[in-house]
Amino acid sequence: MFCTDISSTFFFLFSKDTPALLYYSHFPAIIISLFFSFFVWKKSQDISARVLFLIACFFTLWAFFDLILWTNSDSRVIMFVWSFINILENFVSALTLYFVYLFLEKREIFLRWKLFVGALFLPFLVLLPTAANLKDFDTALCEAVQGHLVYYFYFLEAFFFLWLLGFLIYRALRSEREERGKIALFSAGAILFLLSFSGANIAGSVSAVINPERSDNWKILQYGLFGMPVFMGFLAYLIVRYRAFNIKLLAAQALVVALAVLIGAQLFFIKSQVNFILTSITFLLSVAFGILLIQSVKNEIRRKEELQVLTNKLAEANVELKRLDQSKTEFISIASHQLRTPLTAIKGFVSLLLEGSYGAVPANIADILNKVYTSNERIVRLVEDLLNISRMEAGRLKYEYAEVNLCEFLNELRDTFAITAKTKGLELSFECPEEGTLPPVWIDRQKSFEVISNLIDNAIKYTPAGSVRVRAEAVDGTVRVSVKDTGIGIAPEAMPYLFVKFSRGKEGGKVYANGTGLGLYVGKNMMEAQGGRVWVTSEGIGKGSTFFVDLPMKQS
Ligand code: ADP
Repeated sequence: MFCTDISSTFFFLFSKDTPALLYYSHFPAIIISLFFSFFVWKKSQDISARVLFLIACFFTLWAFFDLILWTNSDSRVIMFVWSFINILENFVSALTLYFVYLFLEKREIFLRWKLFVGALFLPFLVLLPTAANLKDFDTALCEAVQGHLVYYFYFLEAFFFLWLLGFLIYRALRSEREERGKIALFSAGAILFLLSFSGANIAGSVSAVINPERSDNWKILQYGLFGMPVFMGFLAYLIVRYRAFNIKLLAAQALVVALAVLIGAQLFFIKSQVNFILTSITFLLSVAFGILLIQSVKNEIRRKEELQVLTNKLAEANVELKRLDQSKTEFISIASHQLRTPLTAIKGFVSLLLEGSYGAVPANIADILNKVYTSNERIVRLVEDLLNISRMEAGRLKYEYAEVNLCEFLNELRDTFAITAKTKGLELSFECPEEGTLPPVWIDRQKSFEVISNLIDNAIKYTPAGSVRVRAEAVDGTVRVSVKDTGIGIAPEAMPYLFVKFSRGKEGGKVYANGTGLGLYVGKNMMEAQGGRVWVTSEGIGKGSTFFVDLPMKQS
């Protein structure tokens, strides 16, 4: 039995008489839902993603059946398809509940619950082919007349919905604060998903029960279908987001597929040929550009991943480097300690020999002993510098501050260097303002002595003839010591490297071959650690240089 003319509608989904809304509501919903869930399922090993795909499959079947109901006029086809459509809808609801549970609990549901839900479907299975399901066919409306089973369908629909709602509320109450946002978002997605799907369906069904004579009872259902892909996408997005997939790629793919589906769907009901051609071109262009877009997003992601790999490698190398640097510092520290003891012994015995403690020393031997003493001193200084560096770099150099009278301090330095300068034929002078005019400085006496010693030592070393002037003065709220020589001077390009570890000036190397390039580096660090400053000025090669040290004063 047929309701209307067979030729235009018999099992022919794409008849030109079919309203466009049908295609718009069904096809994009089917394709987008399948796409989203398939994509997530492929990307994820997560069981909830698999269930989402299953939901999309049942939904697709449901939508396909619905399409047949709208376009078909053969009573046998309608009765057959209609008899399944309600159970399919209940499947979607039950699976949504299952999906929500899996997603939030991250574990399988108990078997007894599965059996319970399975049992709820039994009446459907038993009564499906009977009059309780569909009791008659209304030829006027071309619709099936539903039996009492429809109430059971309403009941199940409501039951699953309330169960879902109850579970979500229970889960939100039980969860930690940070997790609540995620649950709220997810609940909104799942609830709207069910509401848009079965809400519209139930509204249509109820309307058909109340006004059996009306022909547009089911129209509302088509609008409900628009919500489906939206919320399906939303749920897929949530899986992706909380399982840390690449959202950017999913978004690009979703955009392209949605665009292609929406434009492609138009092709089915366009009546004018010109429009058909234009839409086809638009369709092809959007697909082509869409593929390019997806490709570029993929490339970008790949590059980012490669960059991440490199960054990780670099970070590992850096850790290794730090470890090596640390062991180097430790090695130097241990080696220097071991070296210091015998050096001190050599120094002591040579001094005793020279002083005649073991009897008079002939002049030629005294000369040799003097050389031994000087060389030993050089090694002592080197070992001291290395020790200082290793302590400095390990942050273990301790400073003991005391109030120091600078003029007395300089007098001591004068005694230390007087003979060396005289031997070299240099004029060495010390200038200090009148007693009491220079404020006392607050420094580690021994370390500051080492620093300024090194500056005077350098000045003598790098000055072949002329003078070395050491001066203390109060300048701009600090106390400054300057060591000015008439020596080899410093080339402007060499300036930045003077205070760098192991760095020696080219000219300096020619004049004094045995330097290490450590003294200035250690001195600068030590002074800065005490709150002072070291720097140098020179007019250039052969024009002498002046080294300055600003010493910190006691804060009152
Ligand atoms: P070293 O004297 O053992 O080489 P320093 O760190 O004390 O190590 O000095 C680094 C370099 O700075 C020297 O090699 C030298 O070239 C240069 N320099 C230091 N003091 C002077 C100076 N008074 N005149 C000229 N050059 C100097």
